[in-house]
Amino acid sequence: MTQELIETVPMLRQGRPLVVAIDGPSGSGKSSVSREVARRLRLAYLDTGAMYRALTWYCLDRGIDLGDAAAIEQASEDLPLVVSTTPNEEYVRVGGVDVTQAIREPAISSAVSAIATTLGARKELVRRQRELIEVHHRRIVVEGRDITTVVAPGAEVRMLLTASEEARLRRRGVQLGGTQSAEQLAAQVTQRDAKDSTVVNFTTAADGVVTLDSSDLDFDGTVDAALGIVNKVLNRD
Ligand code: C5P
Repeated sequence: MTQELIETVPMLRQGRPLVVAIDGPSGSGKSSVSREVARRLRLAYLDTGAMYRALTWYCLDRGIDLGDAAAIEQASEDLPLVVSTTPNEEYVRVGGVDVTQAIREPAISSAVSAIATTLGARKELVRRQRELIEVHHRRIVVEGRDITTVVAPGAEVRMLLTASEEARLRRRGVQLGGTQSAEQLAAQVTQRDAKDSTVVNFTTAADGVVTLDSSDLDFDGTVDAALGIVNKVLNRD
């Protein structure tokens, strides 16, 4: 994609709302691609998965039973969360504690689905996500599992970033430094997605959502394709 094309996209909608909603399974490259798309379009950026991870960290820290839906729901309301909304700085704080690294630990990855399938907690996190989108004047890239369908179904651009299971396992393996066995990786990627998809559908695109399959694309190729989709959707309106 040419530099000229990239720069005409934000110019086109200057002063107007521009929410780019991106959903997808783990290992699809969603976070890194979304962050780069936000940078290139000079938009704010919200990683909603980090919010579910932060709530999981908080529940574990307080010794909350992950089977106790009422306690998890209450924790979601109490959660003193500060999450970065810029693509250039990644931070997540819970009650002043920097949990940016801690929420990426395998212990959190294996517990997060229990939290994310608690409907009362989802309701509260979705409420906070919508509030953040409004505060940022609706010029933002938001990524997660239910952004195109639940959090921001009215987003100007909606995309589902997919990749084959093989590609996703490979990428997550590289991300974790090649220290995991095939079983551990499968538990973190495939099984987590299976649990997550009991409450949200992020495997097939809803009406009006454009699918981007990154199985055979590298990082730069995926970012270019995503920017191409943004441009195409905006020019169609
Ligand atoms: O994207 P990431 O892997 O960091 O997400 C962590 C977890 O947060 C997911 O496995 C899922 O359980 C939950 N999640 C969700 N809805 C979102 C974003 C994440 O349920 N919008």
